[in-house]
Amino acid sequence: MTLKRSVAGTNLEQAKSHNRRVVIEAIRTNGALSRAQIARLTALSSQTISNIVDELERAGLLRPEATQKGARGQPAVPYSIDPNGGYSIGLQLDHQTAVGVVTDLSGTLRSRIERRVDRPTPAEAMPSLATMTDELVRSFRFDRSRLLGVGMAMPGPFDVEGMTSVGPTALPGWQDFPVALELERLTGLPVTFENDATAAAIGERLYGVARNLNSFVYLFIGTGLGAGLFLDGHLYKGSRHNAGEIGHMIVKPDGLACFCGKHGCLERYVSLRAAYDCLEIPDPDHASPEKLDELLAAGNERLLAWADQAAAPLRQAIDVLELAFDPETVVLGGFMPLAVIELLVSRLEPLHLSVSSARTRTVPRVLIGAAGKDTSVLGAAALPIFSETNPQFDVLQKPLG
Ligand SMILES: [Zn+2]
Repeated sequence: MTLKRSVAGTNLEQAKSHNRRVVIEAIRTNGALSRAQIARLTALSSQTISNIVDELERAGLLRPEATQKGARGQPAVPYSIDPNGGYSIGLQLDHQTAVGVVTDLSGTLRSRIERRVDRPTPAEAMPSLATMTDELVRSFRFDRSRLLGVGMAMPGPFDVEGMTSVGPTALPGWQDFPVALELERLTGLPVTFENDATAAAIGERLYGVARNLNSFVYLFIGTGLGAGLFLDGHLYKGSRHNAGEIGHMIVKPDGLACFCGKHGCLERYVSLRAAYDCLEIPDPDHASPEKLDELLAAGNERLLAWADQAAAPLRQAIDVLELAFDPETVVLGGFMPLAVIELLVSRLEPLHLSVSSARTRTVPRVLIGAAGKDTSVLGAAALPIFSETNPQFDVLQKPLG
């Protein structure tokens, strides 16, 4: 018989932990709040709020701000998240770079290391990621006991026969490799591991444009393309951790051949690789997001033509995602430079008629996220913080044992 993990029960300690997370989340999404404001937002009793706020202040997670005059004269102390209450290490591995960062509890970058790599195998990458973690821990003075853990992001899909290890948008040799367990063994720190789209989605949910959203799809335009699905307050990861690998969704049945063996996959039209191919940049070393930025600034005709070609497949993908998940919005981000994403978005309207077409909506159907080269690594650093402070504490996968 196979045992399935069920929804966590609510014993007393878990309920307490849940309530602490609810309080932190209320302050994170609203800014500094007084005890009375927290009580109104969370429907917890005044006594419970007082106990939790005291406890979180003693733990260094919350700090009191300057007193505000209350409406009836009694002063109220607003509490905010103390940035120095916790630290997190983010690691990101892609085809050309390994990046490591330390952020504090507010998501502010405190330290950063970048190394050039060339489509590394696990045997090449794991020792250097462990060394990088060690260097980050030593890179500035902070209370080590407040280090929450390591979050790591890399491109998916994971462990799909025939799709994981082929073509220039996949990293070779990572199929079946237990990344999180191995990194925990090498660093002695707890490790959370996600694909880069999911990590970026969590980054947007904690600190970015999705801060107040409960259901959104994050489209990560990197070397390939993937989606992070944050639905009803939970990450949706799928049965084998590959939900959102929509780069290989067919958008043109007789379209361009893809490395996965199919034709007309979305990432053959919308990805850094698709743009590089369209521009026929001869030397792969010269193909970089920065290069696209330069070409766009120079008004390069071929880049504009690529955006024209990419708009229809992207519009179709957004249509499918809206109809399948009914999200509040679709966020576009990733390694693609901001200016190029803006160019793509300017070509998207009119979007197809879908369940998202309602006139009464308050959030636009498409938002632009924090695109740029650190999107994924800052998202990775957000993973341990999210996992420690979000009320839905069962949402991230941690390695068992
Ligand atoms: Zn494909």
